[in-house]
Amino acid sequence: MKRIICTTCLLLTLFTSNALAQVKNTFDTIMTQVYEQYRKEFVSEKEDGYITKLLSTLQPDGSWEDIGYSKTDIAEWQPIAHLDHLKTMALAYVGKSKWHDDTELRNAIINALQFWYTKDPHSKNWWHNEIDVPQHLGELLIILRQSKNKIPSTLEDSLIERMKRGDIYKQTGANKLDVATHYIYRAALTANAGLMDSSVKEVFEPISFTDKEGLQYDNSFMQHGKQLQISSYGSVFIGGEYKVAAFLRNTRYALGGEQLKMLSTYYLNTYMKALRGGYSDFNIEGRGISRVDMLNKKHEQGRLKLAAMVDQANNNEWEAVMARTNGKQAPSFKLKPSHTHFYCADYTLHTQPDYSFNVRMVSNRTKRTESGNGENLIGKFLPDGATNIQVKGDEYYNIMPVWEWDKIPGTTERDYADDQLTTVFWGEVGSMPFAGGVSDSSYGVSAYDMNYNGVTAKKSWFFFDKEVVCLGAGINCKEVESITTTINQCWLKGAIEVEGDKVKGGGIISSEHPSWIRHDGVGYYFLEKEKVFLSTIKQTGDWYHINHSTPKKVQSGEVFKLWINHGANPSNAHYAYVVVPNANKNTLDDLKANLKIIANTEAVQMVRNEALDITEAVLYKPATITVGEEVISIDKPCILMIRDTQKATKKLYIADPTQLETEGTINIANHKTNASKVYTIHFPKGNKAGASILVEVE
Ligand code: CA
Repeated sequence: MKRIICTTCLLLTLFTSNALAQVKNTFDTIMTQVYEQYRKEFVSEKEDGYITKLLSTLQPDGSWEDIGYSKTDIAEWQPIAHLDHLKTMALAYVGKSKWHDDTELRNAIINALQFWYTKDPHSKNWWHNEIDVPQHLGELLIILRQSKNKIPSTLEDSLIERMKRGDIYKQTGANKLDVATHYIYRAALTANAGLMDSSVKEVFEPISFTDKEGLQYDNSFMQHGKQLQISSYGSVFIGGEYKVAAFLRNTRYALGGEQLKMLSTYYLNTYMKALRGGYSDFNIEGRGISRVDMLNKKHEQGRLKLAAMVDQANNNEWEAVMARTNGKQAPSFKLKPSHTHFYCADYTLHTQPDYSFNVRMVSNRTKRTESGNGENLIGKFLPDGATNIQVKGDEYYNIMPVWEWDKIPGTTERDYADDQLTTVFWGEVGSMPFAGGVSDSSYGVSAYDMNYNGVTAKKSWFFFDKEVVCLGAGINCKEVESITTTINQCWLKGAIEVEGDKVKGGGIISSEHPSWIRHDGVGYYFLEKEKVFLSTIKQTGDWYHINHSTPKKVQSGEVFKLWINHGANPSNAHYAYVVVPNANKNTLDDLKANLKIIANTEAVQMVRNEALDITEAVLYKPATITVGEEVISIDKPCILMIRDTQKATKKLYIADPTQLETEGTINIANHKTNASKVYTIHFPKGNKAGASILVEVE
C-alpha cells in the first residue's frame, strides 16, 4: 500500500514537472519569437550612435527633457516616445551591438523604466492608455527577458501589474485584438496558462464573420458602426493578427485551419485588391485619408513577410503581391481580373491587370466616412459614389490637401465656393436603401440612389474589361449652387488631349460637348452631349486644414480636374461618360461599335456591351426591359446582368440592392415567338442579403 502511494506520488510529481516544463517551453518559444520579430527593427550600425545620444540626454531622474510627459494629446501623444527610446535601448542591450550587456545602458534602462512607472503618463485618448502603453511595456519586458543580466524582479513585477489595462471582453474587432495582444505578452511573462488560453481565444476571435463591427460576411471590414474601414481598422486587424500568429507559430496556440484561410482571404482578396502597385484606393482609409503618406503602402513588405511565414500554403500569392507593392514588378504582375461587390459595405472593387476602378457608396444600412479626433475635417462627400481610378497607382498620392473637396472623383455635389466642414462626427448613417451591385466575379454593375445635402441622383457604374460606363440620372437640387459631377481630380501628368488637340496645363477650359479627353493614359469618352469643364491649374493646400492632428505642411501641384456642370437648380439632369484606362486612337470607334447606352432615366439605367455579349441594367423600380428578342419584366427593384444573350440558355445574375425583398418574379417573353416563361427569384437573406444570385434562363 505504502509503495503504491509512493509510486503514484512519484508519477504525479514527474507528470506535473513535465507538464510545467512543457508550458514553460511553450512560453519561452513564444517570447523568443516575439523578440525575434522586434530584433529585426534594430540595425546596429545605425542605432549605436543613437544609443549614445539617448544615454547622454537621459536626465538623472530617468526622463528625457524633450518629451512632454504631461501632454495628453489624442493623436500624436508625446510621452510614448519614452517607451520607444527604451525599446531601442533594450534591443541594443540584448542583441548584437557594442552595447550588449553594457552596465551603463542597463542602469539607464532601469532608471527610465522606474521613471515611467512612477510618472504613469496618461493620454486623453483611451487607446494610448489601454492599448499602446501596455503593448509597449509587454514588448520591452519580453525583450529584456532575453538578457543574461535581467532587470530587478520587483520592477518587472510592478510593470507587469501596470500592463493590466484595457478590458479584452468589452472591446470588438481591431481594438479587441490589440488589447488581447498585450494580454498574451502578460500571460507569457507570467507563465500563466489559463490567461494564455483565454487570451489566444480572444485574439483570434476577430477572425470570424460578424454582422457587427469587424470582418463582415462579404469579406469587407467595418468599424465604428457599419463603416467601411478596409485599410485603417482593417489594416490594424491584418497587422495584429499576423503578428500574433507569427508569435504563436510552432506552438499549440498556432493559428490554422478555417481561421487562417479567412484571414488570408481578407488580406489577399480584399485588402491587397484595393491597392494598385504600392498605393491604396483612397476609399479604404477611413478618416486616415487625411494623413500624410497614407496611400503609400511600400511598408507593406514586413507584414507580407509575416503572412508568408504564417500561411506558407499561399507562398506564390504572397510573392506576387510583395513584388507588386514594392515596385520590383509592374502593378499588373500576376494580377488576375476580378470584380467584387461588397454588399455589407456598399463598396465595389473592379480589378483588371491594367487598372483599378473602385466605387464607394452608402445606404441607410451603412455610415458615411467619419471625421473625428480632428481628422478628415472636410471629407463629408466621400461616400457619394467616389470612383478611385488607378493605372500606375500614385494618381491620388498625397493630393488630399489640394483637393477641392466638393469635387471628389465620381461624385455629384453642390459646387461651393469653399470646402464644407463636416458637422456629424464618427460617421453619419446614409439616407437611402438602394445601394448595391451585381457581380459574376468578372464583371458587374453597381448603383447608388443618392439623396444627400439637398441633391438627389441615380448613379450607376457598368464594369467591363476595357472600360467602365458611368451613368447619372434624376439629378435634382433646389439650392443656389451649381450641381457638378466630377469625372476625376488627380495629379496632372503630361499633356492632355481634347479630341486630338494637345492642351497645355495652367488654365480652366470649358468645352461645350467634347467627344473625348485623354490624360495620363486614361481616356474619358462622352457618348451624349455634356457641358464639360477642365482645370489644370496648380492647387495648393495645407494638411492642417484637413487634419488638425497633422503639423502645418503645405502641399501643392498641378491637378487634372474634369467635371460636368449640370447648372443651378437642375431638374432631372443626367450624364453619361465612359472611362477607358488604356485608351488609344481606336478607342472611340470601338466604343461606338460595341457599347450602347440603352436607357438612362431615373427608373432604368441600362448598357449593352456587344463585344462581350453582356447586357447590364439597374431597375430603381419594377420595370420591363428588352434584351435582344426577349422582353423581361421584373416586379422588384433590382440590379441585373445577362450574359450569353445570344445563346439558348442565358446567365442572368441578379441582386437586390435594397436588401428588403425576399422574392421576385421575372417574366421573360419572346416578342417574335410569343413564348414566355416565369421565374421566381428568392433573394438571399440575413447575412447574405444583397449578394448576387445566378438564374439560368431560356
Ligand atoms: Ca467647389
